[in-house]
Amino acid sequence: MTQLDISNEGAQFLDADGMKRKYLEERDKRLQVDRNKFLKLSGKYAHLADDPHVETRIDRDAVLEEVETVVVGGGFSGLLAAASLRKVGAENIRIIEKAGDFGGTWYWNRYPGVRCDVESYTYLPLLEEVGYMPTEKYATGEEIWKYCQMLGRHFDLYKDSYFQTEITSIRWEEADSRWHIRTDRDDLIKTRYLLLGTGPLNHAKLPDIPGIEEFEGHLFHTNRWDYAYSGGDQRGDLSNLRDKRIAMVGTGATGIQCMPIVAKDAQHLYVVQRTPSAVDARGNRPTDAEWFKSLPEGWQQERMHNFDAILAGLPVEENLIADQWSEFWGGISDVVEASGGDPELMKSMLDAQDLEQMERIRRRTQEIVKDPAVAEALKPYYGRFCKRPTFNDEYLESFNRPNVELIDTEGRGLDKITKNAIVVGDTEYPVDCIVFATGFEFLAGTKKEGGFDIVGPQGRSFTEHWAGEIRSLHGIMTKGFPNLFMIGALHQAAVSINFPYILGEQAMHAAALVKRFTDMGIEVAEASQRAEAEWVDAVKLRSGYDEEAARSCTPGAYNNENTYDKPGVFESRWTGDPNEYIEILRDWRETALEGDLEVKRSQGSRNR
Ligand code: NAP
Repeated sequence: MTQLDISNEGAQFLDADGMKRKYLEERDKRLQVDRNKFLKLSGKYAHLADDPHVETRIDRDAVLEEVETVVVGGGFSGLLAAASLRKVGAENIRIIEKAGDFGGTWYWNRYPGVRCDVESYTYLPLLEEVGYMPTEKYATGEEIWKYCQMLGRHFDLYKDSYFQTEITSIRWEEADSRWHIRTDRDDLIKTRYLLLGTGPLNHAKLPDIPGIEEFEGHLFHTNRWDYAYSGGDQRGDLSNLRDKRIAMVGTGATGIQCMPIVAKDAQHLYVVQRTPSAVDARGNRPTDAEWFKSLPEGWQQERMHNFDAILAGLPVEENLIADQWSEFWGGISDVVEASGGDPELMKSMLDAQDLEQMERIRRRTQEIVKDPAVAEALKPYYGRFCKRPTFNDEYLESFNRPNVELIDTEGRGLDKITKNAIVVGDTEYPVDCIVFATGFEFLAGTKKEGGFDIVGPQGRSFTEHWAGEIRSLHGIMTKGFPNLFMIGALHQAAVSINFPYILGEQAMHAAALVKRFTDMGIEVAEASQRAEAEWVDAVKLRSGYDEEAARSCTPGAYNNENTYDKPGVFESRWTGDPNEYIEILRDWRETALEGDLEVKRSQGSRNR
């Protein structure tokens, strides 16, 4: 038995080997279950994908037009892409968005309690430019959504946007070297450049639980909260739930934010848990206006850089954020330094630090939740990098309420649904409503259910193109799809917990290239095969792919639900320092550019 000296009070010695065995047992329970069975959001469930926020459908004629650049999506990816285009002087642009307004994930996800768990001063992009002070350290979804609208106004983007417009096809036409975009409004929009900002989480998962179709009560997904049913708003006062028995299924970042608000009003709330989240303290507070005013020019870029460096395990002079993310996921650089670079020692010290952090979270759970059996069931038994941590000061506390009941399914999820109840094991729990906080199909792509594929030269579909090996230059351009830039594609690009940080850089990158191509009379550009191959190798070097570590985790988005059947999916993830990725993009724009591209100039002469 390895005895680890855990410095935190109350856990002097921990049976590390025993704990690792426990982690594997918890993983194995979850591997018995088919976790990938979902219902299509069509037919009986089509309304779960409708837009509940639009009161009036925009009435407009179909358009037939040609523009310089189309941005697909009006979330942070699209907004930052369009803002960057404006900054380089591009006026002839269009934004196409399915929703009724800007906001993307913050437009759709308006469930009670929705907030961002990355601090607002780091998360909300372009604060200095827009001149906005977030009201709290952790902003509400409502504030973030309003900020998205503010970005739209600041960069004068509304006049160039088609809302409530769904793309039905995008095809490259060789005859005019333009992308032809068709929509459900019968539009045909031709564009030279295409910037894709469709986001990774836009297909809600409705688990295919036996009997679900028989359920006669109410049912919805947090992604389209039904306030007509619950009453109230994102802040709470869900008055219609006061005589209702509610089941909430799912205890990820969404479920945890939402549950305490529902608990305040539901007559009875069952929280259906498959895997507990690691729930750390939140510590939200209003913004100190004096402090905010005192921040020097360029502070936000520095803060974003600092946050990502800490989370990447790099040493920093000062932790500017001083939040729970850096407490829980940071601290790696101290271990690296203390180990003196000895790889064996470093690994064992990192393991010890991991156990220590998870043990702290488990102790915290026990201290807050009064019923010891409930507390035990709420403790996460897996490594800290297996799942996204969560931060909340009301979730665990809510289990002390008399109207809240945890149904721990020991990793299985619901066994059955009847016409008026949920079933776990032999027990039926009659309910009036089931709320699914069951997340999204990660990177489902644009083609999913009624979506569109992107068809490049020679009729090549993007979906097929990436079905084999994922290849790109910087995760932004890909050979075979000219003049196309991906903003926020998570393959072969850095991924940051602070998502808009990377989006902002990719957006700037794409806009700078659009400007350069236009200035240089380049008509068509795509990544060269050599440059792509070099980038694929560069990413593999930084993928930090450790299959043993991935396999030892409970299944989830981070380890592709613990499946390894899609070749290259892990190797294509950049898990290195996001700041390094940003430096690479910036250097490349200065130096490499044309050497890594195949371009055709206006006169039709091929340069490379
Ligand atoms: P999620 O992280 O995928 O969590 C889904 C939850 O539903 C998990 O607890 C999952 O259990 C459970 N689940 C799935 N199928 C189930 C079934 N059949 N029966 C019972 N339980 C089931 O989804 P999310 O919480 O909506 O988060 C989605 C993404 O948005 C994440 O990347 C998250 O970090 C992000 N997010 C961010 C914020 C923020 O503050 N920035 C807020 C909310 C969400 P298992 O763990 O066993 O799979």
